[in-house]
Amino acid sequence: MKDCRAAVITAHDQPLEIRRIPIPQLDPGSLLVKIAASTLCGTDVHRWHGPLEGHDSLPIITGHEPCGYVEEIAGERTDILGNPVKRGDRIVWSYVACGSCYYCSVALQPCICRGRASWGHNRSDRPPYLLGSCAEYMYVPPPCLIIKVPDSVSSASAAASACAYRTVMHGFDRLGAIKSHETVVIQGSGPIGTFAAAVARDHGAKKVLVIGAPAARLEVSKKMGADAVVNIDVTDEKERHQWVRDHTDGRGADIVIQAATNMAVPEGLTLLRDGGRYLNIGVGGKANIAVDRLPQEMLLLTVRSGEPRHWLQAIDFLASRNDTFPFEEMISKSYTLDEINDAMQAMASYRVVKAAINF
Ligand SMILES: [Zn+2]
Ligand SMILES: [Zn+2]
Repeated sequence: MKDCRAAVITAHDQPLEIRRIPIPQLDPGSLLVKIAASTLCGTDVHRWHGPLEGHDSLPIITGHEPCGYVEEIAGERTDILGNPVKRGDRIVWSYVACGSCYYCSVALQPCICRGRASWGHNRSDRPPYLLGSCAEYMYVPPPCLIIKVPDSVSSASAAASACAYRTVMHGFDRLGAIKSHETVVIQGSGPIGTFAAAVARDHGAKKVLVIGAPAARLEVSKKMGADAVVNIDVTDEKERHQWVRDHTDGRGADIVIQAATNMAVPEGLTLLRDGGRYLNIGVGGKANIAVDRLPQEMLLLTVRSGEPRHWLQAIDFLASRNDTFPFEEMISKSYTLDEINDAMQAMASYRVVKAAINF
């Protein structure tokens, strides 16, 4: 086996090509994983449309949400819980921070380490080639922490935990406890917003309200824990403001979670009660935060990505809450690798909550 098939962005906004990519030699501690499923994320679409800041020199293998079977291990490895990893195990794996910069070693905020390795934006014509998830195989660098996937979690759901879901877990980690009298408003009904609805419900919120679109996504939000939803396509900001006030005795939400883009922040701040907590998870897009009024007292949190424990928390949540939430409905449609362009289009047009490439 010298090479494998992968979906490659060769030019921005042009159809992706299926190319043959070399399989690299494994260095000590690294793994080769046979991909079982790769889910697509909004970031993959943004990267396809044009370069994201700081990186993206083409060609790149698209995708950064992989789940797969260990094909080969160079040496002995254990998972994040200390159990041995062997050939055939189904796994997800964390990103790698440098461990020695200011963010890693002083601030203890490895998610913003400037030297952090991540997937889906590395050149596919340079070793180790296979660092994108829409490929038959992926290379796992030695320092990545490994999380085994229980049988009760599908490969597509596990793949989604490698980006969207673990970022949500990071957000709730920073947010702290949700009290039983608190109302949570979520801006966004994509994968992050919908998963956040389930976690907010699970963490004991009195009421979970989701603002999003289109209607089909909002239906999934309801099954995932939202008590009420409002469609942004048929309401204006004033109506949504009133809707939140009507649900909160006129005060505004105790917690607002931004799971859309930074452009939603100004509206989100008006939905928050004085003294509330604002959690900014959907950190993509331009930020133009001009507001007439800020809440009196508030906590504003922004999170990016996740630490290895958040990968584990996401997988554990999927496994242990399987009976409560229909996680499989988050994966709206499955595609083959050859259908990658259809899958990217479906994500770009918001027709699906999440698209999965199954192998
Ligand atoms: Zn992502
Ligand atoms: Zn670092």
